[in-house]
Amino acid sequence: MNSDGKILPLTDPRVTVLLPSMGWMFTEAFVAILKGSGLNAKAHRPPDEAILKLGRANTSCKECLPLILTTGTLLSYIRNVKQTGEVLVYFFATGAGPCRFGQYYIFMEDLIKRLEIPNVALFTLSGENSYSGMDKNFERNGWWAVVVSDVMEDIRSMILANAADPNRSMAVYDREWQKILIALEKSQYEGFKQQLLRTAERFHDLPMKRPPQTVPTITLTGEIFVRRDALSRQYLTERLAEKGFATVCSPIAEWVQYCNYMVDQRLNPDGLNIPQRLKLKIRNLFQVRYEKEIKSLLSRSGLVYADSLNVKKFIENAKPHISPNLAGEAVLTVGGSLTEVVSHSCGVIAIGPFGCMPNRLSEAILNETMNREGKLATDPKNKQLQGVLTELEDLPFLAIESDGSPFPQLINAKLESFCLRARRLHERMLTQN
Ligand code: SF4
Repeated sequence: MNSDGKILPLTDPRVTVLLPSMGWMFTEAFVAILKGSGLNAKAHRPPDEAILKLGRANTSCKECLPLILTTGTLLSYIRNVKQTGEVLVYFFATGAGPCRFGQYYIFMEDLIKRLEIPNVALFTLSGENSYSGMDKNFERNGWWAVVVSDVMEDIRSMILANAADPNRSMAVYDREWQKILIALEKSQYEGFKQQLLRTAERFHDLPMKRPPQTVPTITLTGEIFVRRDALSRQYLTERLAEKGFATVCSPIAEWVQYCNYMVDQRLNPDGLNIPQRLKLKIRNLFQVRYEKEIKSLLSRSGLVYADSLNVKKFIENAKPHISPNLAGEAVLTVGGSLTEVVSHSCGVIAIGPFGCMPNRLSEAILNETMNREGKLATDPKNKQLQGVLTELEDLPFLAIESDGSPFPQLINAKLESFCLRARRLHERMLTQN
């Protein structure tokens, strides 16, 4: 409904659906899907200093960083881009859980009322019912966007860290990304798959400094917004690439599959009836199939290790330290870190907004468990793992809290020493393998 009380369909030409950036790749991919559904959708540019400043000026600054940045994004669009007569629908995800996430929506509604902003509405999807409730094509295509952006993020990190000519290779990468967006917008799975295949072949031909499987890899996990947003994570991927590390960022798909798991295990107050539950189960099966296929196509580039997600394994590995009944990201950060370190990466960075509750919880647990004993407990019979971990006590782990400003000197110093330890572990892993 616009401010004159008129109800407009989402497809009305006066309506713009605006997405704040949650990692530019995911946002652009999702916008392509929305456009393919006939909406006039736009991806806002990723947050920068100006957006951060605007967000801080309109909040108490005690809110979580993602809320400050999404507030700044909305106001920046309204001040600098919105046309008279344009009706804005601001899209973002919501949920409950043991933190403040469920309050974002309420805060944003209050802000619009308080500033008396005309013709702005909010559009949310909730993690409580696993983001269901939209048309089935939209849910299916949205999943393609999630998976492809996850994998392309990791390919980008590998190119930054390992390409013989990073500038030229990144130009190729950007062109391929635009082609993928066009394919997503067309909403045809066959065409999309063909494009992924062509992209993987193109990437395969890019000259690399050394075989990608020998490049030291860091797992970047933690709070979902901050770990994927360049300003919030203070260009960590690029900084690690300069030191020769490729970053594997915990995927957005992991969170979606976790929500599926919570609904499946009835650990969420989702309010779904039996037919809706059944529909969700079928959707989840298709999601697994699409995930496997998209990853398998892109892994032909040779630039990415793209195994299928196993959220149950993460939860299982976290269980001795945190109850699965405690909904939220902490269980994934703990389980994911213990699962990935040594097996697929030589160090873990857990990043989150300043004061983020799930992030602090996982930091406290991981400070105690990221060691030989904690890792061996995830796979006690693995001889190769035992070999790598011989005479090794602590594993490379760094927790960072970000408020969007450059990291203080202390964090920079910790990052340096983390990289040294990660490099040593990587050498051990190479020798053992
Ligand atoms: S997960 Fe962290 S950043 Fe997100 S709402 Fe909860 S406390 Fe805030």
